[in-house]
Amino acid sequence: MEAFVIGLLLVVVCLGVVSWPFFRKRSVPSAEAESFDKAVGIQIAASQELKALEAERAVGEMTEAEFFTRRNQLRLAAAHALRDQDLLRPQAQRTPDIESEVLAARRGRQARQPKCPVCSNALLDGTVECPRCGTLFSKNGHVVDSPNR
Ligand SMILES: [Zn+2]
Repeated sequence: MEAFVIGLLLVVVCLGVVSWPFFRKRSVPSAEAESFDKAVGIQIAASQELKALEAERAVGEMTEAEFFTRRNQLRLAAAHALRDQDLLRPQAQRTPDIESEVLAARRGRQARQPKCPVCSNALLDGTVECPRCGTLFSKNGHVVDSPNR
């Protein structure tokens, strides 16, 4: 029994290794899914087939190897359909990822942040003296006195 299980695991691993290059790093939706709705349909169909497959296995209508092979195929199909949904999702439904939001916020803050007109040191709002080079300036950014002049 143990040898059988190990053999099965090997089969599954081999299948995975063999099929991996075909599936990784595909950034375009698969040919079957031309639209978001279709990708959703494919995913639902795959998960229903998975349930049916498990039912078939329960009544002993297939060999374990057949079951695992088919199950892997269905899981892959479901995973691809999920990724296709991401790629094909209408723009309005897309949730912006947190990283780009943080980046945008940071960029906005940098644009608004006052800088020393002499040494470009970033300054706090309302500062009238650059702590780095000692330049004095008025509130509208005009240099009043610079120690380097
Ligand atoms: Zn400065």
